[in-house]
Amino acid sequence: MSQQRYSQQNPNSMPNRDQPKAPEQIEYICGDCGAKTALKANEAIRCKECGHRVLYKPRTHRIVRIYPLEN
Ligand SMILES: [Zn+2]
Repeated sequence: MSQQRYSQQNPNSMPNRDQPKAPEQIEYICGDCGAKTALKANEAIRCKECGHRVLYKPRTHRIVRIYPLEN
């Protein structure tokens, strides 16, 4: 006999793409001091430790050079 379990983790399983629950954070590694910095998509790319503006993406290992955005 096979016992089937239906585990409902999300009772209201409606795909709501318009309202993400958690703000999307991307983790970068500072190109200067090597500190990990989690930044949101709308946040200015800058190392929170030393203020360096060239950060690496750990996944791609490519340099992500973002020009300073002055608001
Ligand atoms: Zn740094």
